[in-house]
Amino acid sequence: MIRCVQTRLFAVIGHPVKHSLSPVMMNAAFRALNIPAFYLALDVSDFFDDMEHIKAVGFEGLSVTIPHKESAMKLAVVDDEAARAIGAVNCLKRVGDGWHGINTDWIGVVNSLRNRGIELGGKKALVIGAGGAARSVIYAALRMGSHVTVVNRTDDRAFSLAREFGVDAMAHEDLKKGAPFFHVLFQTTPVGMEGYSGEHFVPYEIFQRGMIVMDLVYRPLKTPFLKAAESRGCIVISGLDMLLYQGVAQFEWWFDRPAPLEAMKEALYGVVE
Ligand code: NAP
Repeated sequence: MIRCVQTRLFAVIGHPVKHSLSPVMMNAAFRALNIPAFYLALDVSDFFDDMEHIKAVGFEGLSVTIPHKESAMKLAVVDDEAARAIGAVNCLKRVGDGWHGINTDWIGVVNSLRNRGIELGGKKALVIGAGGAARSVIYAALRMGSHVTVVNRTDDRAFSLAREFGVDAMAHEDLKKGAPFFHVLFQTTPVGMEGYSGEHFVPYEIFQRGMIVMDLVYRPLKTPFLKAAESRGCIVISGLDMLLYQGVAQFEWWFDRPAPLEAMKEALYGVVE
C-alpha cells in the first residue's frame, strides 16, 4: 500500500479536468500560509472505483467537478442543507474512513456579489439556463432574498426546475418579444466559453444601465455577453469570482481557518485573460 507522508494531499477530481484552474488557486493558498500540502488535478473516469484508490493514497480533501457532483452526493455523508437542495456536492473532506460533503458553488455566487457590496433582497433576478450551475445560482439568489425567474433554451427544463425551487419560469421566445425588467441577470450556460460555438437566445436589448450581470463562464474573463452588458452601463461580474469564492469556502472548510484571499485571487487572475 502506498501512502503519501510529509505532504498533505488535496485534488480536484473531474472528467475532463486537464484545464482546471483550481490547482493554481489552491497551491497559491498553501504557499501563502506555508502549509505543507499539495493540490493536484486528477482525471477520474470511474468515480466509485477511483475514489477507493484516492482514499488509500491518503487524500484529505477534494474539489469535485463535472460529471461527479451527483455521485459525490451519494458517496458522502451530507449534513449540508444547501448541497441537498442543489442536489450536488462539490467538496469532500476525509473524515475517519469516509467522506463528508458540502456544496460551496452557491457560496461562490453569494460572495461574488456581497464582496462588491451587492445585496439581492427584494430584487428580481433572471437565471438563464437550467443545468447544474443554474441550480446553485437559484439557491444562492433565493438565500439572498431575490425573486427568481428561470429561462432556458429547452423551456420544459426551465419550468420543471422552477417548480422544484418554487420560483417563476418564462418561455425563451417570450424573452425575445420584450423582457420584463430584472435587476440582476445570471448567465449560467456555456455560451461564450472559449471553444464553444453556441449562440445566445437572449437579446442584448435586455441590458439596462445599472443592472447587475454575472456570467458563470470565466474563459474568457469578459465574455461577449459581459462586454455587451458593460457597454450598456451594467455592472458586470465574471465567473472567475465565483470560482475564487467557492474555492475560498472549500479551503476554509478543510483547514478551519481564514483563506489567503488575495494570494488566491492574484494566482487566478494571473492566468486568465
Ligand atoms: P449543464 O448542466 O450541461 O447545463 C447547460 C445549460 O446551458 C442548459 O440549461 C442548456 O440548455 C444550456 N445551453 C447549452 N448550450 C446552449 C446554447 N447554445 N444556447 C442556449 N442554452 C444553452 O452545465 P452546467 O454544469 O450548468 O454549466 C454551465 C456553465 O457554467 C459551464 O460553462 C460551466 O463551466 C459554468 N460553471 C462555472 C462555474 C464557476 O465557478 N464560475 C461553476 C459551475 C459551472 P438546454 O437545457 O436547452 O440543453
